[in-house]
Amino acid sequence: LGRKLNAALAQLNAAPIVDEKVLDAMLKEICAALLESDVNVKLVASLRQKVKAKAKAALESDANKSKEANRRQIVQKVVFDELVDLVDPGVEPYKPKKGQSNVIMAVGLQGNGKTTTCTKLAVYYQKRGFKSCIVCADTFRAGAFDQTRQSATKAKIAYFGSYTETDPVSIAAQGVAKFKKERFDVIIVDTSGRHKQESELFEEMVQIGEAVQPNMTILVLDASIGQAAEAQSRAFKESADFGAIIVTKMDGHAKGGGAISAVAATKTPIIFLGVGEHLADLDRFAPQPFISKLLGMGDVQGLMEHMQDVAAQNPDRQKEMVKKLEEGKLSIRDWKEQIQTVMNMGPMSKIASMIPGLPQDLFAGSEEDTGKRMKRMIYITDSMTATELDSDGSVFMEWDKDGKPVSLNWRVTRVAKGSGTSVREVEELLCQYRMMANMAKQAGGKKGWLQQMQKLG
Ligand code: GDP
Ligand code: MG
Repeated sequence: LGRKLNAALAQLNAAPIVDEKVLDAMLKEICAALLESDVNVKLVASLRQKVKAKAKAALESDANKSKEANRRQIVQKVVFDELVDLVDPGVEPYKPKKGQSNVIMAVGLQGNGKTTTCTKLAVYYQKRGFKSCIVCADTFRAGAFDQTRQSATKAKIAYFGSYTETDPVSIAAQGVAKFKKERFDVIIVDTSGRHKQESELFEEMVQIGEAVQPNMTILVLDASIGQAAEAQSRAFKESADFGAIIVTKMDGHAKGGGAISAVAATKTPIIFLGVGEHLADLDRFAPQPFISKLLGMGDVQGLMEHMQDVAAQNPDRQKEMVKKLEEGKLSIRDWKEQIQTVMNMGPMSKIASMIPGLPQDLFAGSEEDTGKRMKRMIYITDSMTATELDSDGSVFMEWDKDGKPVSLNWRVTRVAKGSGTSVREVEELLCQYRMMANMAKQAGGKKGWLQQMQKLG
């Protein structure tokens, strides 16, 4: 999906002038890409209409009539905003609070990844200082409690369940009461799923809900769910009024668009993405960074979160970095440090996709290739002088209004020679840095991602 959306936006850049014809052609491709990913037809039609109307209005305003660069940016921004709206219902999800018990109930059809996700969530919160545990209220599937026991034990998470009790409502109530008494902060209730939507299942969800009074119910959805997402999510919404969605198996070849339809149908935000079978394979979800990453524009927020996890050894330096990012004062040296930190964080392909300004093909190919390319970037920065590293890149060249470099100076040639790379590569790196710096500036403002991220906490 990302690749196709990218191609559609690239069309815009390639066109000599941005007029209605170009706009229509771009929209046609964007919509085709979304439909192919199973995004609901009505949603796609409405997006098309909105982008068209907004872009047209903006393009026809006098102020924007002449400057082509502006026109491109305006259209890009309209597309970006509307894509963000697709995955943003504008609702704040529940946030567990420390010093109280937060009961979270997971619902969804069998095989969607509830049990796996419950353990991942428990680990996620445990890592952030919440005493976490799991209650297995799935008595429908044979071996369900064994599965919970095994994964919880492996993750060193407290759990509760029964081999003999057959009433899921009773188990849920017992487990939650026990863990509340033991002052657990996050109590996650895993439920059974059945193979299809059926009245017994929904009845069971209502009863468990009444028994444990969850602070937040999460619908766990498999990314491969197609057009069925809308009906399924509506049905669950009625019996278990979920306040958040987790989309699992985003690591596979699933199209994911169905999940987007579920967000719109139930006005409920996605909070995490499951991206693998391991316990750590759970990514925080936020609309802006997700779309930004999808379009190859990087994910400053995700990167910062990763860095916060890793750089916990040096919190002061980290604070300084965040401040610089917010103020748009990140120097080449700081950027180099980021890349180096990132290189120690692995897996490279995942991390690289978060760094804004890195071209998509940097992380194409094998893990090894990506590593090699990143190393070349470090070689280039290694050949820079202290003054150059501490600069914002302007000592190397002048930039025109569109952020394209004009007139490189002798420094570029020197760095290329010193690092055994080419003038072209050095120039590319400087462009990437420049893009990153601009994105960071955007991220820092009042409405920026960093702010959004702090809200997520
Ligand atoms: P449940 O029936 O809803 O409880 O689903 P399970 O948690 O038992 O998961 C069903 C299968 O999906 C298992 O094989 C999991 O390993 C797998 N699974 C769950 N989440 C993910 C994910 O994010 N990525 C991948 N690749 N597999 C997942
Ligand atoms: Mg299960």
